[in-house]
Amino acid sequence: MNPLIQRLTESDALRTDKNTPLPILVEQRPVDYYVCPHCKQEIFEKHTFVEEGVERHAECKGAIKWPPTDWSKIDPQWRKLLGGPA
Ligand SMILES: [Zn+2]
Repeated sequence: MNPLIQRLTESDALRTDKNTPLPILVEQRPVDYYVCPHCKQEIFEKHTFVEEGVERHAECKGAIKWPPTDWSKIDPQWRKLLGGPA
């Protein structure tokens, strides 16, 4: 087959494929999560409270402090808003 005709045919096939519903792919990525240094359980969002200026894990009441923010992972447009470096 003429290479040009072959390319045209292929792109036509690709266009047709875009109209065919296909199952969405499920992929995994590693995600950081926080573990309480006292009870070793995962610290879920909003499962902490502050008492007399000390933040504590809601489940075990252990006093905790968050690791320093890695600003390099934060989009520059959010840094200033969040009180980080420019
Ligand atoms: Zn805990």
